Amino acid sequence: KPLYFKAGINDAGRVADKGSKCTWNKNADRSTSVHTFVDWNVPRPKIFPDALAVIGHTPLVRLNRIPQSLGLECEVLVKCEFLNPGGSVKDRMALRLLDDAEKAGVLKPGYTVVEPSSGNTGIGLAMACAIRGYRCIVVIPEKISHEKEFVMRALGTEVVRTPGTADEFSPEGLFGTVHRLIKEIPNAVNLDQFSNASNPLTHYDTTAEEIYHQCDGKVDMVVMGAGTGGSISGIGRKFKEISPQTKVVGADPYGSVYGYPDSINKTDVEFIEIEGIGYTFLPTCLDREVVDHWEKVLDKDSLGMARRLIREEGLLIGASCGTILVGALRAAQKMKLGKGHRVVVILPDSIRNYLTKFVCDQWMEQRGFQEAVNTGNHKWWDT
Ligand code: PMP
Repeated sequence: KPLYFKAGINDAGRVADKGSKCTWNKNADRSTSVHTFVDWNVPRPKIFPDALAVIGHTPLVRLNRIPQSLGLECEVLVKCEFLNPGGSVKDRMALRLLDDAEKAGVLKPGYTVVEPSSGNTGIGLAMACAIRGYRCIVVIPEKISHEKEFVMRALGTEVVRTPGTADEFSPEGLFGTVHRLIKEIPNAVNLDQFSNASNPLTHYDTTAEEIYHQCDGKVDMVVMGAGTGGSISGIGRKFKEISPQTKVVGADPYGSVYGYPDSINKTDVEFIEIEGIGYTFLPTCLDREVVDHWEKVLDKDSLGMARRLIREEGLLIGASCGTILVGALRAAQKMKLGKGHRVVVILPDSIRNYLTKFVCDQWMEQRGFQEAVNTGNHKWWDT
């Protein structure tokens, strides 16, 4: 495959080094960052200066029905990242990418931000660029929901779609298109969420710290999905350092190659309905070394569980939340977590992104997924 990406920041903007590791020189990276640890002594403001200031500090909520219905006795808490102002966990990272790039002098007034995304980073960047006054172009694959596209467009961002058939690294694919736009547009910068260390560091510095603080340090398992790998690598690494007994679990759709050992990824699934998690290449930001266990999940189980989260727990969440909860419940059962144990599950995005997709009964029926909703406790952990 042609290599479209070189490491570092050059006149083509910040681009990924496919196949190499994200720089994890934490101290060096942190010293150039405007964000450090969460300071718990600073009270939350009564009035926020702008929408970006609302990002983070999301609530942890207990699940009261779903784990119990499956006979699980451990406590399952969900981290409500869908309550961020742009509607997803990616708001945190988009803001930090922008802040760090401004601080490093890579991004200057009048510049254009160009980013490949499955939509949530795009929405986070679109919001931040609307507020800060940058032109923003987001490249998304064909399968991404119209809801995400419309949100970005409403925020003033230009959206480019790439064909579902195109390999991500081909000239007409996701990264190839970003590369072309960066070359064509003067002063265009790709902050590159797939390889930028500011991505995992966001979660290392904030999301993981919040979870640890909210749980008073008692977390037996933390479960996430992986798209760029930023959340799982950042949260996983922080927990390995401050709470090494906490198990770090990844939930990965069939059709993706993130699971480890690699043999668990074997499947004939070619299309992943769930947006935002799983690819057929390993992003630079994904550090599989901090993940203790992976669970593979089918679309029907993910979507069935996402609908249960909405119907039974009243949480207005998106599709990958279903994947991640299925992975969490299976892993908790396999690791025999019982009374007194605590599992934290990251819920990345919101129902708003999928109103015409899995939230719509007709859409579910047309794809044969309705049964997964109707049968409630179908045998999803046997698959
Ligand atoms: N779920 C959804 C819906 C997402 O959009 C993303 C980000 N692509 C993730 C999960 C995974 O986050 P990360 O990129 O940090 O791995």
